[in-house]
Parts: sequence; structure tokens; C-alpha cells
Amino acid sequence: MIRNFLFHRVNPRRDPLWDPMDVALFDKCVKYISENFKVALIEDLAFSKELNSKNEFATLMFDDGYKDNILYAAPILDKYKCKASFYVVTDCIDHNIPTWTHMLEHAFLYTNKDTLDMGFDFLPEDLRVKKLSSKTERINYLNKLKPFLRKTAHEHRNLVIERVVSSYKDVEMPKLMMSWNDLKELKNYGHYVGSHTVSHSMLGTMTDEIEIKEELQLSAIAIEKNLGHTPLSIAYPVGSYNETSKKISKELGYKIGLAVNQNIFDPQKEDFFEMSRIELYNEPWWKTRLRITNTLENIKSLIRYK
Ligand SMILES: [Zn+2]
Repeated sequence: MIRNFLFHRVNPRRDPLWDPMDVALFDKCVKYISENFKVALIEDLAFSKELNSKNEFATLMFDDGYKDNILYAAPILDKYKCKASFYVVTDCIDHNIPTWTHMLEHAFLYTNKDTLDMGFDFLPEDLRVKKLSSKTERINYLNKLKPFLRKTAHEHRNLVIERVVSSYKDVEMPKLMMSWNDLKELKNYGHYVGSHTVSHSMLGTMTDEIEIKEELQLSAIAIEKNLGHTPLSIAYPVGSYNETSKKISKELGYKIGLAVNQNIFDPQKEDFFEMSRIELYNEPWWKTRLRITNTLENIKSLIRYK
């Protein structure tokens, strides 16, 4: 059994938008995980005979490629002698821009502009607006927009993002991402760098196979060009994938596809292109520990099936 633990940002500073995991909590997580499980890289473990042993394995993974990963997480990984995998969005690394999800939230929160022409006819009635006059209005709107964007078609989502970014030009996007040199350094320390697509596209919502192929292939080419290896693993952005994206990943030579479904992965029974990951957040330690031991999910499923 493998527990794949997923992290994003690790930072001592709080962020109102999307709170990073606090450094002290991250330290506690890695300490606990390394004391209770055998920590390895999924890229090694997936092809190792050890997998059939009775060992309880854990892996440590980071999505998106945030700068604070190398600043704050890497020294702690080093302290507990753990290796981790970093799944990067290659466009974000190339240009030091945040992912579209982050960009969207940042724009809504920090703009001072009122006009936002969202007249698209694919939008539900309550999301079609011309103007959002205050920060409260903008945040309320964003909270309705986000769930819609998660399930809508890729092309529609791109139109919405472009419109937001071009309407809220007064907002400067934060520089949050690692550079290729940072990633080279992580690789030299024995960590792994895998793909998280070119532009953080939700693969499961895309219909154009050529576009899906580009997201998967061009990100692998960028990693190969900058770091010298072809990535074995693809972490599906926002945990979104389907049979087509799995098929194309396999055709392109990926060996591992990573989902996010808060579960332990059983390599004997489950698909290597739908590997479960357990995401950990900035929460009180008791709650994080329940997630690590998977108790929280067990309790939830007991309640569900009651
Ligand atoms: Zn991501």
C-alpha cells in the first residue's frame, strides 16, 4: 500500500487567498510520515520489487512548482532525509506566472476596476454581469464562478480567464514560482521533477485530443530540455482526467498518472494512471494526523454508508 501525500505551498507567511501550509506543520508532517512509513519516490517505487513487500510506503509530492517549496520545504525534507517529487506547470516556470486558478483569485481580490463584461451566453444567467462594483460583490461572484469553471468546457474556461485578466489589468500577478535553476538544484539533491501539464489545464474537461496531447507532450519536452530527463509521471491538474487523457498519457510514454482522491493507493488492485493522492492542508495537527493515517476518510465513509 502506498500513501501518496500531496502538498502545494509551504510558507511561514499567511496568505488570505489560499493559505500555504505553515512551516512548523510541514515539519511535523514529514517527521511523522518518515517515522511511520517507508518514504520513497513514486517514480522509483512504482517499478520496484519492494512494492510487493508488506511495507507501508509513503511518498511526498508537491504540485505547481512554488518557490517556497525550495525555500522552506526542501530544508525540512533534507533534515528527515526524505526525497520528494515536484510536478510543475511548464508555462508557469517559463514565465514565473501563477496557475490560472491562482491568477483568477488574485485578480478578483486585488483589482480596483468595476467593469467586467461577462456577457458570454454559455454562462448561467446569474454569472452574466457587466459590472461588479465592490470587493464584496467581486468575491461573491468569484465564489459562484469557481465551481462553474471546474466543470465547464476547457474553451469556455479559457475565454472567462482571458476576459478577467484583460479587464483587471491594474493587478500585477505575484511572482511565486520556481525557476528551472531551482528545479535543477532539487533534482541534483535527488528529488524528482514530473509534469503537471503546460498550462494547468483540466484534462478531463478537454475534448480536442490534439490540445490534450500538447499539454502532455510539450510539458515533457520542456522538462527534458531544461533538466535532461523525460518525466515518467503526470499529475493531472485539479485532479481532472478521463479515459482519453489517460490513453494519451500512456501513448506518450508516461508510466504514472496522479489523481487526487484522498485515498491510499493499492498497487495490486488499482490503475497506475489513477493513483490516489491524499492532499494535506494548513489545518490543526490533530486533523492533519487523521488525514495521514486515513482515519478521517474512514470516518467519512462510515457515515456515508450508514
Ligand atoms: Zn495544480
